[in-house]
Amino acid sequence: MAELEALEFGKSDFVLLDEVNMEQFMENLKLRFEMGRIYTFIGEVVVSVNPYREMDIYGKEAISAYRGRELYENPPHLYAVADAAYKAMKRRAKDTCIVISGESGAGKTEASKYIMQYIAAITNPSQREEVESVKNVLLKSNCVLEAFGNAKTNRNDNSSRFGKYMDINFSFSGDPTGGHINNYLLEKVRTFCFTTGNRSVKTVRTALKVIGFSEDEIESIYRVLATILLLGNIQFGTEEEIVQVEGDGEVVSHIAELTSTQPQQVEKALLFRTVATGGGDVIEKGHSEQEACFGREAFSKALYERLFGWIVGRINSVIEVKDYNPMLHGKNTVIGVLDIYGFEIFDNNSFEQFCINYCNEKLQQLFIELILRQEQEEYEREGVAWQHIEYFNNQIIVDLVEQNHKGILSMLDEACLSGGRVTDTVCLDSMSSRLAQHPHYTDRKVGAPADKTMEFQKHFRIRHYAGDVTYSVEGFLDKNKDLLFQDFKRLMFNSTNPVLKDMWPDGGLSITEVTKRPQTAASLFKNSIVALVDKLSCKEPYYVRCVKPNEMKSPVLFDAARCQHQVAYLGLLENVRVRRAGFAYRQGYSRFLLRYKMTCEYTWPNHLMATDREAVEAIVTQHGFQDDVAYGHTKLFVRSPRSLFSLEQERAAL
Ligand code: ATP
Ligand code: MG
Repeated sequence: MAELEALEFGKSDFVLLDEVNMEQFMENLKLRFEMGRIYTFIGEVVVSVNPYREMDIYGKEAISAYRGRELYENPPHLYAVADAAYKAMKRRAKDTCIVISGESGAGKTEASKYIMQYIAAITNPSQREEVESVKNVLLKSNCVLEAFGNAKTNRNDNSSRFGKYMDINFSFSGDPTGGHINNYLLEKVRTFCFTTGNRSVKTVRTALKVIGFSEDEIESIYRVLATILLLGNIQFGTEEEIVQVEGDGEVVSHIAELTSTQPQQVEKALLFRTVATGGGDVIEKGHSEQEACFGREAFSKALYERLFGWIVGRINSVIEVKDYNPMLHGKNTVIGVLDIYGFEIFDNNSFEQFCINYCNEKLQQLFIELILRQEQEEYEREGVAWQHIEYFNNQIIVDLVEQNHKGILSMLDEACLSGGRVTDTVCLDSMSSRLAQHPHYTDRKVGAPADKTMEFQKHFRIRHYAGDVTYSVEGFLDKNKDLLFQDFKRLMFNSTNPVLKDMWPDGGLSITEVTKRPQTAASLFKNSIVALVDKLSCKEPYYVRCVKPNEMKSPVLFDAARCQHQVAYLGLLENVRVRRAGFAYRQGYSRFLLRYKMTCEYTWPNHLMATDREAVEAIVTQHGFQDDVAYGHTKLFVRSPRSLFSLEQERAAL
């Protein structure tokens, strides 16, 4: 509320808009961005616009200004949300989570770092050594994950190609005791190459050491990275119909040395695959040149993926809370921070966008459920009559994607497991005939140009909550299959380097076991997202919605069309509506009095009523908006922001 007076900065909370429509929303967002006010509330949600310049709002003074204060006492800020989550955790022993979403380059990872830094800054006031070291490891793990998981893309110089969920555990006294990281790696390589961003290799090495990686482990990490680079130099040629690795075998030897395997085994894995025949025999089959190239690519991607997964697992083993005794220490509470790719709509949308958008449907559903549940619980707690809120329930879209046997994911898996003759187009055909009646699925023929160009034949469209997305089905099945030949897994499993071997536990499976039940990318992703939603749904949620102002990384340009697009698919207007459909504002009686007692003759300088509630009633009645409020046990609920606004104006005029 402190910022309400400063009207030239726009409305600090979107619920205060005169009317909830896109025009007013965008006007306010733009004005605030131009005034350097990059954060705006929607109730307890923070909307953030990437400033693309250094802001002087994250210093020590800012931290102490937000520390322990209520959300509306200060201008909107990430710190306000971080503090709210921390207070809920500490005072009410609630597990909380902060969900940060937005598109690539919108500022999610930066926001998650500021939040982590804030939590680090306000905890452990007595500087206990063991707590400091936990904090240090938690912060350093960010640096390592960024070094290995980020890439320079054309949308973001430091783009996270993975979603990250981090739980921070707290002791009864509110100090960090450990944590756990889950990663949702989606995009296999392509953009991937080891980047240290603006960090040097040395910084990463130091971070690894601080976390507790051994020399052997660090060495092994660099060996894997070198292997990936070397694989890029492997070329295949065909001589007398026999496919072979070109050159004098030096690269192969080098790879064998790095991975602690035999050169002959490396060469064999590159040129042959073991297959189980229908009759149950196991045979070795030589690759074509194309298959060999394909295998090499899949291998280097998998090396990277396994390495990343292994690093995360290793960090987890270090930060895991040990020796926590609930009898002795009380409840072990958690704050989760989720930094995950938002909804994506590109010109050409493929399997990755399909997975990402499915993930966002799930998160949206959780958002609606939790926000509505929270509202409902608060009304009940305060003894205020519950009001039904109209909103779009996207369960139908979630079902369309994930329902067993009937959903798109199941159909993809069916196609993948059916023996390899099903092509993308055949799969699409079958999907389209089975989903023809679905209101959120559009068959490729509907709306197709009259001549039904080939182009159009390979697409299907989903009406997502955030908008329509047309997916090109090309490559869907390949991306869904685990394309790494078991021979590579076995090669690595047989490495005499225990660290490398540890990254490939499934390399020990026999080929017949593998053929029976291959895991598809879609089912793995679905399982991890379902587990994530389970984790989040038992926590009190806080949200940061990030908006990218332009494609130029410019600090001054507000590209209205681009921003409006994001506001739409982040569902922000819907969010404001949900928030306003009930009571836009609520405040404890004593706090309300403190702020507005000077606007009423019965309460200034002090009131003579029996309770604060009666004093608040006097203020409300004197200003004539008694029909616009409800009185809870401890809080006043105000339906329309206008009422509060008039109070604010009067207060400012005094
Ligand atoms: P991706 O999904 O690609 O990982 P992201 O949403 O995580 O993207 P960030 O890496 O957080 O995006 O932000 C991109 C860049 O924008 C940063 O490298 C930084 O230059 C700038 N930026 C983001 N937030 C801020 C901020 N609060 N203050 C200053 N600069 C920022
Ligand atoms: Mg990021």
